[in-house]
Amino acid sequence: MTRLEAAAAEAKILALTPSAQGRCPEPVPLTQASGRILAEAVTSNLDIPHWDNSAMDGYALRSEDVSRASPESPVSLTVTQSIAAGPAAVAAIAPGQAARLFTGAMLPPGADTVVMQEVTHRQGDRVEIQVAPRPGEFVRQRGSFYQAGTPLITPGIRLGGPEIALLAAAQCSQVQVFPYLRVAILSTGAELVAIDTPLQPGQIVDSNQYALAVLVQQAGAMPLPMGTVADHPEALARAITTARLKADMVISSGGVSVGDFDYVDSTLKDLGATLHIQSVAVKPGKPLTVATLPPSPDKPAMLYFGLPGNPVSALVSFWRFVEPALRKQSGLRDHWSPCFIQAHTTQALQSEGNRETYLWGRLEAGCQFYPATGSYSSGNLVNLAGTNALAVVPLGTKVLAAGDPVTVMLVGQR
Ligand code: AMP
Ligand code: MG
Repeated sequence: MTRLEAAAAEAKILALTPSAQGRCPEPVPLTQASGRILAEAVTSNLDIPHWDNSAMDGYALRSEDVSRASPESPVSLTVTQSIAAGPAAVAAIAPGQAARLFTGAMLPPGADTVVMQEVTHRQGDRVEIQVAPRPGEFVRQRGSFYQAGTPLITPGIRLGGPEIALLAAAQCSQVQVFPYLRVAILSTGAELVAIDTPLQPGQIVDSNQYALAVLVQQAGAMPLPMGTVADHPEALARAITTARLKADMVISSGGVSVGDFDYVDSTLKDLGATLHIQSVAVKPGKPLTVATLPPSPDKPAMLYFGLPGNPVSALVSFWRFVEPALRKQSGLRDHWSPCFIQAHTTQALQSEGNRETYLWGRLEAGCQFYPATGSYSSGNLVNLAGTNALAVVPLGTKVLAAGDPVTVMLVGQR
């Protein structure tokens, strides 16, 4: 099978990824909707603002009464009432009258404009207006931000603080969201042990299990850690079969290279899966298996990602290739692809030139990329810590000098 370039691999993966439409939305209280993806359009029967109200502390009046007001010849009006935010006005404003009012207070009938208190002078029940306001100034008109019955918020977006604020203001106490995408995570390798197992010579902790669970969760899906599997075809087949029963997508790490104990691809074929990708022109992370597990009576077909075992390769492959699929299948309407931005590298970046190369480091304010210190080895977890971005050295480029522009892929929560 050919080795695909990164962009082509991503496009192929997204084309293979089902949308969330087949998954039945579930209702959740708004208080539990943070981070969930909205599954239905929301319409409110409330205008926003709900009524004409003041944007300032000041005086509500009829603009025509004060159209000639100036600091030299202020216009004096009678203050007939004081309106706090909350209660409705008690009386209308007649010519020559004004109402004292405060930010958020309802405008009294008859008034069309608010003059802020800084350009007024109050004496007893009179107020002098020292400027001629623009008619309608400092009035937040009913329905000027949103009109009842029109779409308030469209489906396919992740609900964060701003969206929850809007839904709360519109009295939507419950929303329909897509169910969490369940992602089974398997680690393959006879050398892998759990975090609290004393290490025997040759053994290492299955760190990918922990890392991938975090990445899945950060991408808005539900990780299902399935533990480790030995490098053995039958054990692997059993583990994949169990994983697919519980999940909507399966990810494994390790066992996709060309070693004698790399059984993932052959096991997938034995299980009737279709292999779409086996290798990508990317460093780190050259071996990458993307397959579709066939449907069974109780499960639809589902995507399988076999990531390389090296810890950095596994994470980079996840960010570059799994996360877009996960975002699409979770129900996001758009922005599935990683976020690439233009930055400058503070130090020289090297590549062999024959694969698109992702170098980890930190993007700091002003779009400066600081490469990680220490060795760029796909097995080096140590200098991966602190990474928030990957600099991308394009295919065919061997070096980018300090100060050169560089495309950077943002990683982590977004
Ligand atoms: P593999 O892709 O199976 O050939 O593994 C490549 C390297 O990654 C080997 O050094 C493995 O020990 C290591 N590795 C594989 N799986 C994991 C894992 N789950 N956690 C940490 N390291 C791993
Ligand atoms: Mg292995």
